Amino acid sequence: MVKDCTTVWHNCLQVIRDNIGEQSYKTWFEPIVPLSLVSNVLTIQVPSQFFYEWLEEHYVGLLKKVVFQELGSEGRLEYSIIVDQGNDHSKPQTVNIPTKKVPSAVVNSYSPERSFLKNPFESKAIDRHFFNSQLNQSYTFENYIEGDCNRLARSAGYAVANKPGTTSFNPLMVYGGVGLGKTHLVQAIGNHIKSNNPDKFVLYVSSEKFVNQFIESLKTNNVQDFANFYLLVDILIIDDVQFLSGKEKTQEMFFHIFNHLHQSGKQIVMTSDCPPRDLKGLEERLLSRFKWGLTADLQSPDFETRMAIIYKKMQSDGIHIPDNVIEYLAYSVDTNVRELEGVLISLIAQSSLNRKEIDLELAKSALKHIIEDVETEVNLDFIQKTVAEYFQVTLDSLKAKTRKKEIVTARQVAMYFAKEFTSHSLKSIGYHFGGRDHSTVIHSVQTVSDLIDTDKKFKASIQELQKKFKVKAV
Ligand code: ADP
Ligand code: MG
Repeated sequence: MVKDCTTVWHNCLQVIRDNIGEQSYKTWFEPIVPLSLVSNVLTIQVPSQFFYEWLEEHYVGLLKKVVFQELGSEGRLEYSIIVDQGNDHSKPQTVNIPTKKVPSAVVNSYSPERSFLKNPFESKAIDRHFFNSQLNQSYTFENYIEGDCNRLARSAGYAVANKPGTTSFNPLMVYGGVGLGKTHLVQAIGNHIKSNNPDKFVLYVSSEKFVNQFIESLKTNNVQDFANFYLLVDILIIDDVQFLSGKEKTQEMFFHIFNHLHQSGKQIVMTSDCPPRDLKGLEERLLSRFKWGLTADLQSPDFETRMAIIYKKMQSDGIHIPDNVIEYLAYSVDTNVRELEGVLISLIAQSSLNRKEIDLELAKSALKHIIEDVETEVNLDFIQKTVAEYFQVTLDSLKAKTRKKEIVTARQVAMYFAKEFTSHSLKSIGYHFGGRDHSTVIHSVQTVSDLIDTDKKFKASIQELQKKFKVKAV
């Protein structure tokens, strides 16, 4: 009797189904299409290279057994892999590969954790969404504005993105406060790698998700699948590792995965909301691993970077807003980029809802709804902060006793503007500058006025600062 490939494969599936869990069967065997049976070679089509590797890694024994059963000892199996070109015009190509055990770095490299890998036939559930890199393609290096606040992290990230696993930045740990661009940066790394090396398995995962998946795998007795899956990753990007704090079992699993990947030359990228040394509740051995590579921080963007970020966002949305509005926004929102984006979105929404041009007035009203402490008037805090930033002295030094020249100048200038732009009395101004008396304020205002008349450079500085307060005082 001449057998056809569909029948043979159907018979194989019957046996396979009895030998593995329902979920694994659905995930790994249902998508397979039998293609041909020629001279005892059964060719099956699998959706991707990854799929093929997974089958060879976990089910090769079972597959061989069922093929022998059906076709006798001469029977062989070949895979036809769909290679997606990532483009709608060209048809997916296929590559045929005979079955053989993949000499995986995962299996060979590290012994103590072999237990995760034993007995592949016990593999059961694996979520389908795992196949996805989980990257958001809108996060790229092109739209990640560079500034002093992120220069090291960005350039290290770029180096890693170009040579994953082969720079000394492994792992790369990026840390910084909320909304400062950690996720954007690490996703940009992932997207860059993916576009240069489509066959690399890049995976982005938040630590929260990692923890939840791990807990789920414990509940359903699938820890082995969980581990095996992560060991296949080429570039592991794990966001917000502070979330692993206090979760000992998950940390232990992460430690093993980390070791395997690192030893096999795979790239690991992590983020955290604080420097590794401050990560409470993380095991020392894990923390010491983080130090193997590079740790780079992200700071709050300075004024110029904030301006550049707003420009870029507006440009990519095709929206024009006047320079003075951009300046106003960049000045008013100095916490983090996410907040800045929130303000922009609200501004654009208000402009289109009310059919109004975006101008300073609209910007001010948009801001009022979002940021509680934005005042319609220029207040003392704002003046002190702006002047201190301008003269590069600390806010505290304006209120301190110090008589250093550059601090005295900054303090006098701040008092001068306090008099010009606020309704505070001289006494009150003095009080807010470290309890000085009103005659000091008078003297400061006079000194600044005199300098404006005699020193051109100084005058220019005052005018520049004045512009900032005027913008705000509209
Ligand atoms: P984090 O993960 O540190 O909390 P995100 O990466 O989510 O911060 O960044 C918040 C928002 O700010 C994102 O929309 C991101 O695109 C944007 N953003 C942050 N930094 C920059 C930057 N340097 N250039 C452009 N956009 C940025
Ligand atoms: Mg984030």
